[in-house]
Amino acid sequence: MKTLEQLVRPNIWKLKPYSCARNEFHGNATTFLDANENPYNAPYNRYPDPLQTTLKNKLFQVKGVKPQQIFLGNGSDEPIDLTIRIFCEPGLDNIVAIDPTYGMYEVAADINGVEYRKVPLSENFEMSASKLLDATDEHTKLIFLCTPNNPTGNCLDRAEIYKVLSRFEGIVIVDEAYTDFSSEPSHTKDLATFPNLIVFQTFSKAWGSAGIRLGMAFASKEIIEIFNKVKYPYNMNVLTQERALYMLEGSETVKTWVQILLKERERLKTLLKEIPCVQKVYPSEANFLLIEVGDANAAYQHLVTSGVIVRNRNNISLCRGCLRVTVGTPEENNIFVDTLKSWKQ
Ligand code: PMP
Repeated sequence: MKTLEQLVRPNIWKLKPYSCARNEFHGNATTFLDANENPYNAPYNRYPDPLQTTLKNKLFQVKGVKPQQIFLGNGSDEPIDLTIRIFCEPGLDNIVAIDPTYGMYEVAADINGVEYRKVPLSENFEMSASKLLDATDEHTKLIFLCTPNNPTGNCLDRAEIYKVLSRFEGIVIVDEAYTDFSSEPSHTKDLATFPNLIVFQTFSKAWGSAGIRLGMAFASKEIIEIFNKVKYPYNMNVLTQERALYMLEGSETVKTWVQILLKERERLKTLLKEIPCVQKVYPSEANFLLIEVGDANAAYQHLVTSGVIVRNRNNISLCRGCLRVTVGTPEENNIFVDTLKSWKQ
C-alpha cells in the first residue's frame, strides 16, 4: 500500500478541521453556555455528540470493531461521498469498480468530477481480481467492491477480494450493506491485516432502520481520523443516535427478522421457479432476488398496474430482462408471486 500521505488529496491532508464547541470541552459541567444553544426544549436543544461515542462503544460490543475504527454517517451514502472527496483529486484521479453494482458509487464519482472505470463481472456475476487490477493506473485511488453485490445478489469470491486487497496500492472499499443475509463472514475481521481496507455496513437493511439514515464505515484508526476531519461537525443527529442505541439493545429481534427473511427468500425462490415467465432466479445471499422474466419492461408495468412495485433492472449491464425483487413479509411475497403469475406475456 502507498502511504496515506501519498493517497489522500494534499488539501485534505493539510486540512485544519473546524473545532466545534462540543469538541473543545469534554466532561461534566453544570452550565453549558458555549454553543449558543437555546436553554429550553431539553434534550433536543443540545448539539449531539460529534463523535457519537456512546453509540460507537455499543457498536464495538456488537461488531467487534474498536470505536476509533468506526465512522458513522447519514446512511452509507455519506461515507461513499467522503471516501471519494478524501482520496480523489477531481479531473486527475480515478476509481475502478465492478459492473454492475450499486449505482451511487458512480453518481458520487460524477458529482465529484472523478473518472469512474467499470470492469464487467462475468456472465455468472463473478469478479476477476486481475481484470480489476489491469484497469488501474497510477491515478487509481479507490476500488469499489460490493458483497453481496447489488443488484446481482451473489457474494464476490473471497480469494479474489484478498488478491485485490494485497495487490492494489490504493484503498479498497468492501460494501457489506447486505452482509447479515449472507453466509460469508464480514470483512471487518480483515481490518488488522489490510490497512487499505474500508468496510461499509448500514442500518437500512437487516436492522430495519432505513428511515433513521445510519451508515457505518470501518477502517484503520488513521483513515477514520481523516473521515472525522472532513465530515460535518454534527453529521449525526440526536434522534438517529438514540434510535440506533435502542435498536442495538434489541439485536435478538433483528436476528429473528433475518431468520424469517432468509426462509422467505428460499420459499420465494421455489415459488418463482414454478412460474412459466420466470426464466432464471439468480442465487442470492441478500434480502432480494434477481429474476429473469424475458420482457422485463412489460412485466414491470403489469406489476405496477396491480400496485406491486419492484425494481426494473432491464437497462443495467448484464441484467437485460431482469427484475430485482425485495424479500417482504410472507403476505407481500404471495401477492408478488400471484401478480406475476397473472401476467399474460
Ligand atoms: N450499499 C448498497 C450496496 C446498497 O444497495 C445500498 C442501498 N440500496 C446502500 C449502500 C445505501 O445504504 P444507506 O441506506 O445506508 O445509504
